[in-house]
Order: sequence, then C-alpha cells, then structure tokens
Amino acid sequence: MAKSISCQDAGKECTWSATAETEEELMAIVTEHVLEHHKEIELNAESIESIKGLIKEA
Ligand SMILES: [Zn+2]
Repeated sequence: MAKSISCQDAGKECTWSATAETEEELMAIVTEHVLEHHKEIELNAESIESIKGLIKEA
C-alpha cells in the first residue's frame, strides 16, 4: 500500500503532494520539500510526528 501526503492537508497554501511506497521514503521526500519551501517549519521530533500523522494510504 502506497503512502501519500499533501501540504493542503497540513493547512498550507501549497499544492504540493507526494506518494511513495513506504513511510520512510515519503518522509525523505517531505523533508526535502520542507527544507526547500517551508523554511518556517522547524523539523524536530515533534513536527516530524505531526507530519507523520498526515500520511494517508494511497
Ligand atoms: Zn509545500
């Protein structure tokens, strides 16, 4: 089962979304996107947990 996530689900005004085979893969893609486009988000254990909460089965 693939995993997907979108910035809109996080309440961001951003149309980005991604799908990957595993949660680990998806989080790597998300981390890259956050570092590049959402510099206001500090990536730490807490924010990573809440991002994981937005992951859906695709
Ligand atoms: Zn975004």
